[in-house]
Amino acid sequence: MSTIADLDRQYVWHPFTQMRDWISDDPLVIERAQGNYLFDQDGRRYLDGVSSLWVTVHGHRRPEIDDAIRSQLDRVAHTTLLGLASPPAAQLAERLIRIAPPGLAKVFYSDSGSTAVEVALKMAYQYFHHRGRSRKLRFVALEQAYHGDTLGAVSVGGIELFHQLFAPLLMPCYRIPSRADALAALLAEHADQIAALIVEPIVQAAAGIQLAPTGFLRDAAELCRQHDVLLIADEVATGFGRTGRMFACEHEGVTPDLMALAKGLTGGYLPLAATLATQPIFDAFLGAHADRKTFFHGHTYTGNALACAAALASLDLFERDQVLARLPDQIARLQAELGHHILPLRAVAQIRHKGLMVGIELGPFRFEEATGARVCRAARRHGVILRPLGDVIVLMPPLSITLDEIGELVAATRAAIVETCA
Ligand SMILES: *Cc1c(COP(=O)(O)O)cnc(C)c1O
Repeated sequence: MSTIADLDRQYVWHPFTQMRDWISDDPLVIERAQGNYLFDQDGRRYLDGVSSLWVTVHGHRRPEIDDAIRSQLDRVAHTTLLGLASPPAAQLAERLIRIAPPGLAKVFYSDSGSTAVEVALKMAYQYFHHRGRSRKLRFVALEQAYHGDTLGAVSVGGIELFHQLFAPLLMPCYRIPSRADALAALLAEHADQIAALIVEPIVQAAAGIQLAPTGFLRDAAELCRQHDVLLIADEVATGFGRTGRMFACEHEGVTPDLMALAKGLTGGYLPLAATLATQPIFDAFLGAHADRKTFFHGHTYTGNALACAAALASLDLFERDQVLARLPDQIARLQAELGHHILPLRAVAQIRHKGLMVGIELGPFRFEEATGARVCRAARRHGVILRPLGDVIVLMPPLSITLDEIGELVAATRAAIVETCA
């Protein structure tokens, strides 16, 4: 009989994975999870050090979220938002607007971070089109940006390893460093052709947890406003508490015109995304049927009822568990542990962190050595699951991580770095 590993190697094509290496190896098969731990087929347990790729918020198998999904399942799993309304989708939209930066007023659902970004880009372009400014069709993106893997999102991406190959397929866009003077110079010359600036506020996650200079987000928002350019905040990674606030934009008191949410939205349970828009953007799309001002965009599973029910339960848990109020202690412990146990290591060049997002930069080592991947592999033997970005070891634990588990996470990471880079 085929094992799960056999079936996987024979039939599954994994994302961001060199499959020649994969099929010559024995995959780790995760069978179940509890709290902040994953369990493999042999019952071994691993701390989920990257929140199952940055999504898990309150831990796995939270009874409150499990129950919310079950109880929605007893009503209906999915109905379409094309032509019909749905209770969990309507209730979640209201909740999101209540917690979002003030000024955001409408919620457009989709299924992934990439689609939430595509929606924001198309909305920005169409918004100016309806205002008679269809020359505003370019986007400004930051160097090293990551906004997803669909072609519009790749167009505004700037990570060479992922994006360079596809350059011939992409729409042209302006790319600047995270500096207000660079943005000011660009907008002074080209604002009449620019629909929007898209940023990952405060933290560029996939770039290796790169922090923006303090004040950049606020300055960028002000420059966009002065030049009639929209600001799109991609909070797909930073949203839902990761940076220490509910949304990263709050650190600098910024309300973007459009905001993309996904990863943590359902607490890490189900794929769901949302693009939030201001009232003026929404209003520009209103008109008679014949005006063709409709936003002709939608994904089949948009606003899925089970996913929205999970998201509502996750937002309830933020309140019930006082998640944001407890974060400062967890962040302080993580910072202290990193300073004591990781920073002094010879193989560590730099540690960057904001909230519970950490990038441990190793090296420099040669690309071929795949040091980051080997460190994460070693971390497994110490009972922690990590996933690197090149030679940056990313720690992004669930917000439910305890102080003791933070110690365990850092100790395992240290052991893995020491072993691998000796
Ligand atoms: C992960 C991510 C995306 C893409 O989200 P998917 O759900 O993987 O499509 C977009 N933007 C940022 C900032 C992300 O971290």
